[in-house]
Amino acid sequence: MTVSHALTDSLVDAQGIDLHMHSTASDGALSPAELVALCHQRGLTHIALTDHDTMAGVEAAEAAASSLGLQVMPATELSCQWRGVNIHVVGLLPEGAQGDLVEGLRRQSEARRARAQEIARRLEGVGLSNALERAQQQAGGERPLGRPDFARALVDAGLVPDMASAFKKHLGAGKRGDVKMHWPYLSEVVEWIRSASGVAVLAHPLRYGLTRRKRGQLLDDFLAAGGEAAELVNGFQNPDVTRDLARQLDARAMLGSLGSDFHFSGGPIAPGTMSPLPRTALAPVWSHPTLSQYAGAGARRT
Ligand code: AMP
Ligand code: MN
Ligand code: MN
Ligand code: MN
Repeated sequence: MTVSHALTDSLVDAQGIDLHMHSTASDGALSPAELVALCHQRGLTHIALTDHDTMAGVEAAEAAASSLGLQVMPATELSCQWRGVNIHVVGLLPEGAQGDLVEGLRRQSEARRARAQEIARRLEGVGLSNALERAQQQAGGERPLGRPDFARALVDAGLVPDMASAFKKHLGAGKRGDVKMHWPYLSEVVEWIRSASGVAVLAHPLRYGLTRRKRGQLLDDFLAAGGEAAELVNGFQNPDVTRDLARQLDARAMLGSLGSDFHFSGGPIAPGTMSPLPRTALAPVWSHPTLSQYAGAGARRT
């Protein structure tokens, strides 16, 4: 029987932790229970389920984890906009959806629905007929649609050779299908997270195509809005840029988080897979007083 270990108070020496993963509640391939089982199999002890704009998978993940001795942190990855850029903010939410976040999540699902219609309209313009129906079919159910569903529909219709080209040509940053207007501003989603007594973590700061200077401005605005942490490592990253990011976070006394951003098996990323962390004195996000219950040993709940 697995006994979970308490987390160290060092970000660099952390083992068995992954605070960024997706399930079928958003654009991941595994159900919450399957994901938790895979995490357990891979020796993880502390995880957060961070589905896009929803917490619909959290209960099932907690139920699956309780018998395995894993600690599951309720969480979500919220879509928002900042200066015309689509930014993601992870909310670590030990008390679940509370306060303004309840209405916030409802608005996010509405926004996702409206956005899907607009993406569909735009993709029909490049030859994907019945785009909404095709994307829903790719999603394989009623769950809210994301750009990966449209990407698969484009591939399936033979309009692009693969997912990467679908994003490069039609769905990636600045392309026709990159619809941001429905998302709330950065400051609003941080406020929702704080209203739920959660900790706001800026997701993958290196994945927005920002210059170092602009990234610094994003961090400053995020802090001003009430954000407290940022992912130092998300999946695979360039080590030099990661060291530089550590300096930017350190200069602002931010907490550091980490995660694989796992979506599906068979690729280079699995639960717990990410680039090694640079040497840094950055405090880990789990040292936040609000999250201390999750940093302890993962005793099975009764
Ligand atoms: P959405 O949440 O609808 O804005 O879709 C964003 C999601 O698309 C991300 O969370 C990734 O899972 C996926 N994604 C983004 N860029 C790419 C890419 N270049 N290739 C494949 N998937 C991508
Ligand atoms: Mn995703
Ligand atoms: Mn993201
Ligand atoms: Mn993600």
